[in-house]
Order: sequence, then structure tokens, then C-alpha cells
Amino acid sequence: MHPALRQLLILQERDQKILSATKNLEKVPREQADEKRKLDDDAASLVKAHDFLKQSELSVKKVELDVTTRRNTISRLKQQQFETRKNEEFTALGNEVKRYEKEIDALETQELELMEQVDDAREKLRFIEEKHGKLKQIYAEVMKDFIAKEKNLKAMKAELEAERAVICVEVDADVLPLYEKLMKSKGGQAVVQAENGLCGGCHMKLVPSTLVKVIASKEIAQCENCGRILYPE
Ligand SMILES: [Zn+2]
Repeated sequence: MHPALRQLLILQERDQKILSATKNLEKVPREQADEKRKLDDDAASLVKAHDFLKQSELSVKKVELDVTTRRNTISRLKQQQFETRKNEEFTALGNEVKRYEKEIDALETQELELMEQVDDAREKLRFIEEKHGKLKQIYAEVMKDFIAKEKNLKAMKAELEAERAVICVEVDADVLPLYEKLMKSKGGQAVVQAENGLCGGCHMKLVPSTLVKVIASKEIAQCENCGRILYPE
């Protein structure tokens, strides 16, 4: 194999690792944001459950107040009944009292139902609070892992870049710019194998003259289609 090719392959191996480390580093903030969103969604359901409990408790209070109001009205009506001398008015007041008592019965049934709703809401809130507590713990652990992962990736990348700098000195200065250009434009695959007469990058058939150049390994050969540097099988 052409000595320049050998050096380029060593360089490419490092560069591909650097690219992979860079990609993984770029993923970290997105993954962190995903975890944060999960936690925020859960916190929102906690607030919702809390609000529902408060609202249910208020409904119970409102019904209790409605009952008290009607009881006061009944007392007032009974007082009027006691004070009246007219039979008709006495009967009318008695009917009013009965109507309010009926309303109180209905309200008390409603109150019982609402109290059950409060119990359920309290139970549900307790469950969600417990779940959220656990999720918060997991989130803290995951964030710690992310920090460690990021630190490792950065260290690995720095190490690879230092190695790359050393390798670069060895690489033929005439082919390095071409390699760098291809590395950028061909997604980290600048040097590829010619396999069964095909370019290992774009998989197009190589023209015979190129294939001869690749096999001879006397000079740097490129795929006519994609421009990638070729090395023999
Ligand atoms: Zn090609």
C-alpha cells in the first residue's frame, strides 16, 4: 500500500472516533432536556392533582355553607310560623320549611359524594407525590451520569485530538488538504476501499484505469464519481 494511504487510514480512524465523540457530546444537552421535560410533565400532573383536591375541598365547603344558609332560613321561617295568627300563612310557612328541608337532604347527599371525591383526590395526590419524589431522585442520578458522561467524552476527545496532531505531522503534506476536504464533505469517510471494482464510498463501478492505479498503489487514486481516496483490497 502507498505509504501516504497507510498514514491517512490511521488518521481517518482517529478522526472517525473524534467525530463519534463530538456527536455523542452534542447529544448530551438534548438528552438532558428530554429528562427535564419528563420531570416537568410529572410536576404538572402533581399540580393538577393538588388543584383538584383543593377544588373538591372547596366544593364541600360550599355545600356546607348552602346547608347552613337553609338551616338559618328554616329557623327564621319557624319563628315567623310561631308568631303568626293566620292559618293560611302558618301553612304556607310550613310548606316553605318542608321545601328547604328537602333541599338540605339533597345537599347532604351531594356533600357525601363530594367528601368521597376529596378522599379519592387525596389518595391520588399522595400516590403522585410519591411517584414524583422517586422520579426526582432518578432525575438527579441521571443528571450526575450525564455530567460524568460529558466529562469522559471531552477527555477522550482531547486525547484523540492530541494523537491526531502527532499523526498529522507524519501525513504527506500534499494529500492532507484533499483528505481534510473529503472528510468534511463525505461525512467522515474520505479514504475507502475499492471492493470488487466498486468504490467503497458511493458503490459506483470504478473505471479500469482508476482500478489499475489503485492496485498499483504508486500514487493516490480517487473515485471519479465521489472523489474519495481509494485503497486496494
Ligand atoms: Zn465513489
